[in-house]
Amino acid sequence: MSDNCLFCKIIKGDIPSDKVYEDDHCYAFRDINPQTPVHVLVVPKRHVAGLNDTEAMPDQELAACLHAARQIAQQEGVGESGYRLLSNCGPHACQSVQHLHFHLMGGRQMSENMD
Ligand code: AMP
Repeated sequence: MSDNCLFCKIIKGDIPSDKVYEDDHCYAFRDINPQTPVHVLVVPKRHVAGLNDTEAMPDQELAACLHAARQIAQQEGVGESGYRLLSNCGPHACQSVQHLHFHLMGGRQMSENMD
């Protein structure tokens, strides 16, 4: 946990969130500014700043986020229609919250353009 991290505060329950999933290693909640009909953030409970810092994280915990994403996609009804899972890392990717998170997006046709 990091004292000044927004997502750590959400995981702790100090800031409210629309939770869709939780297990020992991950927490998932709806993005406050959804870009697609389904837009969920899958977040490891351990504080790591982003993809550049995953060496500080046991593989099991990183894998747990991907397994959670698959389960959430099914739960949200987009498992078969399709979904995108992405993590922004650093300034060029416009990462705005410095706690590793995966955007799970689906529920409409998305473009091939990843910009
Ligand atoms: P990124 O820009 O990849 O770091 O993504 C951060 C995401 O967090 C953005 O899509 C925001 O809309 C989302 N976000 C910021 N604050 C909250 C919040 N309090 N609850 C839910 N999502 C949030």
